[in-house]
Amino acid sequence: MSNIQQTLSIIKPDAVERNLADEIKSFLIKKNFKIIDNKKIHLNKDEAAEFYKVHQSKPFYNDLCSYLSSGPIVVMILEGENAVASYRKIMGATDPKNAEKNTIRKLYGISIDKNSVHGSDSIDNAKKEIEFFFKN
Ligand code: UDP
Ligand code: MG
Repeated sequence: MSNIQQTLSIIKPDAVERNLADEIKSFLIKKNFKIIDNKKIHLNKDEAAEFYKVHQSKPFYNDLCSYLSSGPIVVMILEGENAVASYRKIMGATDPKNAEKNTIRKLYGISIDKNSVHGSDSIDNAKKEIEFFFKN
């Protein structure tokens, strides 16, 4: 049975800065994701802190929020079969060192903090994160 879902993907500042956004979008299209909507934005630190508030108790939270707001990002709504889990798989492990080959983080990630992309980790969070960037 078909199970079409939407998920939120972010191309993070390190990848946008290296002009990798179009290459990452093409990669996703080849992997059968539809890009339903996308925009390039530059969050301020308060907005980044709101987006990542689930991590507020973590030691890396402050650096994470500074980093996400350090430059432009590209936010995308991706749609496809089991999109939440299938995008997490194609994104790869949080630390590019541990990511499987032919995942986005293995191909493009620099380090655990500059790991090039974000992806929603559950259907519920995908809905919230899509709403965060694409409300109205
Ligand atoms: N992160 C970090 N240091 C860590 C763990 C995570 O800088 O020790 C960053 C990393 O960029 C990651 C983000 O915080 O993408 C969110 O962490 P999460 O555990 O949700 O990983 P993800 O879902 O992005 O794989
Ligand atoms: Mg996460």
